[in-house]
Formats: sequence, C-alpha cells, structure tokens
Amino acid sequence: MDTDLARAWVRAIAAAVGRHKDHLTQLDSAIGDADHGTNMDRGFTAAAVAVAAAPAGTTVGGVLTLTGTTLIASIGGAAGPLYGGAFRAVGKELAGPVAAPEAFAAALAAGLESIQRLGTAAPGDKTMIDAYAPAVTAFTGAARAGADFATSAGAAADAAEAGMRATIPLQARKGRASYLGVRSTGHQDPGATSTALIFRALSEVTTG
Ligand code: ADP
Ligand code: MG
Repeated sequence: MDTDLARAWVRAIAAAVGRHKDHLTQLDSAIGDADHGTNMDRGFTAAAVAVAAAPAGTTVGGVLTLTGTTLIASIGGAAGPLYGGAFRAVGKELAGPVAAPEAFAAALAAGLESIQRLGTAAPGDKTMIDAYAPAVTAFTGAARAGADFATSAGAAADAAEAGMRATIPLQARKGRASYLGVRSTGHQDPGATSTALIFRALSEVTTG
C-alpha cells in the first residue's frame, strides 16, 4: 500500500458507509440508539476530505493517522474513539513510503490492540472486535504465506463478513446493546457490520 492507495481506501470506506448508512442505523436501532450509520457517515466523510487535503509527502502512516484523528474529532459515541484510536495505531506502525503485506498485518494487529485496550471487549462480546479480530488473523495468515496485498485483503474481508454474521446469535456484553441482555440476541452487531465494510473496501481498492 502506498499513500495514494491509503487515500483511496479512506474514500472507498466513506462511499461504502454512505451507501450502507441506513442499514447501519437500522441495525443500531434494533440493539442501540440508531445513530451508527450517521456517526460513521459523518466521520468517514470528514476523513476523506481531510486525507484529500493532506500535504504532498504525507506517508501511508500519515494518511491513516490523520484518518484516526479526524474520526475521533467528528464521531460521537463509542465507535468514534474506538475506530479513531485503531486508525491512529495502524498509522503509527507504518513509517515507510510503502506498506508491504506483513508490515500492514502488524499494523492491523496494533489497531486491534487499541480497540481492546480502550473498549475492554473480548471476542464473542458482540462488538466490532468479532469482525476485526478474524480479519487481522486472516490478513496475517495470508501475508505470512506470501500472498500479495490484494489476496491478503480479500481473505480479511471474507473473514470480517463471516465474523459479522456470527454476531447474530451472540448476546452483547459491551456497549449499549449489552443493556438489552438476552434481548440483544438475534441481531447483527452494527459495529461488526461497519468493520466488514472497512475490510471489503480495502479488498476492493487493492484489487483495483
Ligand atoms: P454508540 O453505541 O455510542 O451509539 P455507535 O452506535 O456508533 O456508538 O457504535 C456502536 C458499536 O460500537 C457497537 O455495535 C459495537 O460494535 C461497538 N462497540 C460498543 N462498545 C464497544 C466496546 N467496548 N468495544 C468494542 N466495540 C464496541
Ligand atoms: Mg449507537
């Protein structure tokens, strides 16, 4: 991944979140407060604008750190700091002009650590982690096996979507949805759904 591809990824996330805004909000209205679509749309629209205006010479890491900072500043609720912190952590890991698959895998793992540190959720708690963690595992496994960026990202997107679907029967143990107790079962987690969009966007821009 180079700087242009990092920008294209943020733009593709903004477009995907825009297209799925109503769906994300609908999922959040079932087990939350019906703002996840608007939160994500506001945040990634602002991030796409910010990275487009980033000065020449901005690195991949710089683009992704700026994305995180913008998400923190523009999204309220739980998802803003969690996604913002994750993008900042990913960006901080990537110092060079180009990120190879294995380096990007390590950066994604730093993003996961940030989400877990801040939100203290574990896999199976019905959160974005249930899509993010399998995506990191799949990306890392593919990259270590020598796959190129697009193949690694495709594996991550498939794993994120499987993780997203697997949140349906789970009972939420973190975030607003946990207030519903057993009534949170039978619904797909909104944050896991937006995480799947983020990884599918990565796969799409790297596949070209
Ligand atoms: P809020 O819950 O504040 O309204 P959003 O609706 O934007 O924020 O985001 C809700 C999503 O955030 C949930 O679907 C879940 O995936 C994620 N989430 C909430 N709390 C946590 C947490 N502690 N750790 C990880 N993800 C969380
Ligand atoms: Mg909400």
